[in-house]
Amino acid sequence: MEYNSNNAFAKILRGEIPAQKIYEDEFAMAFYDIAPKAKIHALVISKAMVVDFEDFVEHSNATEIEGYMRAIVRTAEKLGLIEGGYRLVFNSGKNSGQEVPHLHAHILGGEPLSTHL
Ligand code: AMP
Repeated sequence: MEYNSNNAFAKILRGEIPAQKIYEDEFAMAFYDIAPKAKIHALVISKAMVVDFEDFVEHSNATEIEGYMRAIVRTAEKLGLIEGGYRLVFNSGKNSGQEVPHLHAHILGGEPLSTHL
């Protein structure tokens, strides 16, 4: 799928719509999900203009991939989730139900999570 910069997360990156920011660096921005599915539910979006996980991995260099992965850890730390644990989810493509076509990781935690994925 071609990247379309009209999506909600591209708008958040451009400051056109607000977000409750948790963390930001040159690779990523993290903010709270508007419709939380766990006590703590954050999204970590890439600053690269990529649609999904596969697009990101295929079109990023090692520094960008490492930077994004580290940003996820920094966000989990800021949220105090390291000790208690958390779940990471990347929805990617049609069958996953991905709604926003800009790479994002869901971080879910703050309580025991369902054992179902
Ligand atoms: P996905 O199904 O993986 O694409 O997840 C998209 C997520 O983005 C959903 O959990 C939505 O609740 C969340 N979301 C959509 N728009 C916004 C927004 N403007 N600010 C924060 N979260 C959003």
